[in-house]
Amino acid sequence: MIADHIRKINQEIPSGVKLIAVSKTMPVSALNLAYQAGQRRFGENKVQELIAKQAEMPADVAWHFIGHLQTNKVKALVQVVNVIESVDSFRLLTEINKQAAKIDKRIDCLLQFHIAEEETKFGLDLSEAVDMLLSESFKAMKNIRICGVMGMATYTDDVNQLRKEFSQLRTYFRELKSRFFKDDEAFCEISMGMSGDYPIAIEEGSTMVRIGSLIFGERNYGTNS
Ligand SMILES: *Cc1c(COP(=O)(O)O)cnc(C)c1O
Repeated sequence: MIADHIRKINQEIPSGVKLIAVSKTMPVSALNLAYQAGQRRFGENKVQELIAKQAEMPADVAWHFIGHLQTNKVKALVQVVNVIESVDSFRLLTEINKQAAKIDKRIDCLLQFHIAEEETKFGLDLSEAVDMLLSESFKAMKNIRICGVMGMATYTDDVNQLRKEFSQLRTYFRELKSRFFKDDEAFCEISMGMSGDYPIAIEEGSTMVRIGSLIFGERNYGTNS
């Protein structure tokens, strides 16, 4: 039961940790069950899917985009999204700022870091992030707000490995906080932890967990994903 899963996770995680219900591939009926159980933050990784669900769900839902984002889809996404967790290039951030400016919006963003062993996972490294934050063009961006960092650990059962990767992300967060965001209270989020590894992520300082299959059940991707 979706509602029971949400209640159980909420009882387990500390009150300062936000739960993002990752509803990708799930039907709106499933999101509604989560909503009725009090869930208000949902995570999606496809632009069209997020837009379609946003149109059908109540207006007080906060939508987190968590997938790899192509610049040509930014324009449509900024209309409806609340947080883009997966900013993995300067070029993408520039486009988000530009499209958000056109509709006079400010979009909350997280910088996605590459912390996993797998090459397939997207993300910045620390020096790329530092170069970006130092640049004059970044400082001129008025329509984005950097709220923290995000990362995906390696898909593994090796607890030591997971701990090492999560602690790496927390170190990146602390370095950026002290160097660029000391007096900026908005820069406070470390989004890490999924169904299989969120207790470890929380031990390592996560403030935001992105949980899908533990809430909604296993995903069936079918043929076109
Ligand atoms: C799918 C996904 C999740 C959730 O995965 P589960 O293992 O189902 O909890 C979290 N973060 C990202 C970026 C995802 O793509």
